[in-house]
Amino acid sequence: MKFLCVECDQQMAFAERQLPGDGTLAATFKCPKCGRVVAMLTNPMETQLVSSLGVEIGGRTVPVEAFETVGKIVSGGPSWSSDAQERLARVPSFVRGMVKKIYGDYAKERGITEITPAVMDTARAELGLEGM
Ligand SMILES: [Zn+2]
Repeated sequence: MKFLCVECDQQMAFAERQLPGDGTLAATFKCPKCGRVVAMLTNPMETQLVSSLGVEIGGRTVPVEAFETVGKIVSGGPSWSSDAQERLARVPSFVRGMVKKIYGDYAKERGITEITPAVMDTARAELGLEGM
């Protein structure tokens, strides 16, 4: 990722980077000719995107630890309520893993953080699953 000073047609130089630790990233770039400074602020999702593209900022790769936290939030699956876990326990063990994944993916796609029996019912109806 490079920034160009439009007026000077000069590539801006990396000036400062901040990683506040909450997944956001702030970086400033300065035009070596006119001194104009631009700042880039990304939210955790964007930070992860930048990270996954392997973008180097200031000639150095941004420390990986900062992104691992984000990765956990993004890839962390939904939790299961105790009722839902009980219901899952009644599913035959040989399909339990698959069933859990189906509901997990369903919840993740819809931004559902906790799977409850009601979520399972809705998912089953929407996905056309019987007896899961
Ligand atoms: Zn400039």
